[in-house]
Amino acid sequence: MKRNFLKASLAGVALAIVGFSPLASAQDKGLIAISMPTKSSARWIADGANMVKYFKDKGYKTDLQYAEDDIPNQLAQIENMVTKGSKVLVIAAIDGTTLSDVLQKAADKGVKVIAYDRLIKGSKNVDYYATFDNFQVGVLQAQSIEKSLDLKGGKGPFNIELFGGSPDDNNAFFFYNGAMSVLDPYIKSGKLVVRSKQMGMDKVGTLRWDGAVAQARMDNLLSAFYTKDRVDAVLSPYDGLSIGILSSLKGVGYGSASQPMPVVTGQDAEIPSIKSILRKEQTSTVFKDTRELAKVTVAMVDAMLSGKTPEVNDTKTYNNGIKVVPSYLLKPVSVDASNWKQVLVDSGYYKESQIK
Ligand code: BGC
Repeated sequence: MKRNFLKASLAGVALAIVGFSPLASAQDKGLIAISMPTKSSARWIADGANMVKYFKDKGYKTDLQYAEDDIPNQLAQIENMVTKGSKVLVIAAIDGTTLSDVLQKAADKGVKVIAYDRLIKGSKNVDYYATFDNFQVGVLQAQSIEKSLDLKGGKGPFNIELFGGSPDDNNAFFFYNGAMSVLDPYIKSGKLVVRSKQMGMDKVGTLRWDGAVAQARMDNLLSAFYTKDRVDAVLSPYDGLSIGILSSLKGVGYGSASQPMPVVTGQDAEIPSIKSILRKEQTSTVFKDTRELAKVTVAMVDAMLSGKTPEVNDTKTYNNGIKVVPSYLLKPVSVDASNWKQVLVDSGYYKESQIK
C-alpha cells in the first residue's frame, strides 16, 4: 500500500514537472552557440540568421556572436559561450589555427564542436565539419574564365592576374588549388600569361579577405605590369575582393567600349556583385546557399544531441593536421548574367527588387 502510494505520489510529482517545468517544453532543448567571423560580409549575416531560425524551429535556444574579424575577440566570445553552458559550439573561425586551447576547455566540459564553413585546424576537438565543396568553388571560378575567354576553343594568349583569399582560412587554399587545376595547363601552354609572375598563395593571398587590400594590390599590378598591355582576366575568390579589384580597374579606364573590363570572378553572390554582373562589370560569382548550410548544421547538432550519428558525405578530404574531420559538403553553383534570376530569385534567396 505504502509503496503504491509512494509510486503514485512520485508519478504526480513527475507529471507536475512535465506539466509546469519550462525544461520539459519542446522549445527548450538547450543552448547552442554560434560564433561567426564578421558582419562585414552579407553571407555571414545570412548564415547566422538562418541558423537561429532553424535551431529555434527544432526547439533550441541560440547565442549568436560576431567577432568583427578580431581573433582575440572571437576567442573571448567562445570562452564566454562555454561558460554560459552551451551544449554545442558552431564556429566559423577567423583564423582556423587559433582555437585549440579554448576548444580543449570546451571538450573538458563535454561541449561538442562543429566547424562551420571553415575548417578548424590543429585540434582533435572538432566533431564535424559542414561546408561546401571548396575545391569545386575554385574550379567554377576558373571555368568562368575558361569559358569567357574561349580557352577551350584555343584562343589566346591572354593576360591574367590571380588573387587568393586569406592565408589563415583553410578554404582559401582549396579555392586557389581548385582554380589552378583548371588554369595551370593554360599557363603552362602559354595561353594564359601571368605578367607579374605572382603565383602561389604566399604571393597572392589577401589577409582577412580585405577588399581594400585587394584593390591596393590591383593598383600596384596595373601600374607595374599593365601600362602598355591589357589585363584580360582576374581570378578573384570572393565578391568583396572583386569589388575592390573592379574599382582599381575603373580607376585606370577599364569598363569602356574601347577598354572593356577583364573577366572578373567572385564568390558568395552578394548583392553589390550581382548588380555589378548586370552592369557587365563583374563576370560571375559562386552562389553557396547559406540556408542549406544552416539546415545541414542544425541537423548535425540535433543528431549529436539525440545520440544519433550525423549524416556526412566526405570522410577523406578535410584533414585538420590532427585528424580527418567528417564532413558534409554542399554543392556550389556558378552564377552569371545568364542564370542569376533562376538561381537567386526563383529559389527565393533574394527578391528581384533587392537587385533591380
Ligand atoms: C568562405 C567564403 C567567403 C570568404 C570570405 C570563406 O571562408 O567560404 O564563402 O567568401 O570566407 O568571407
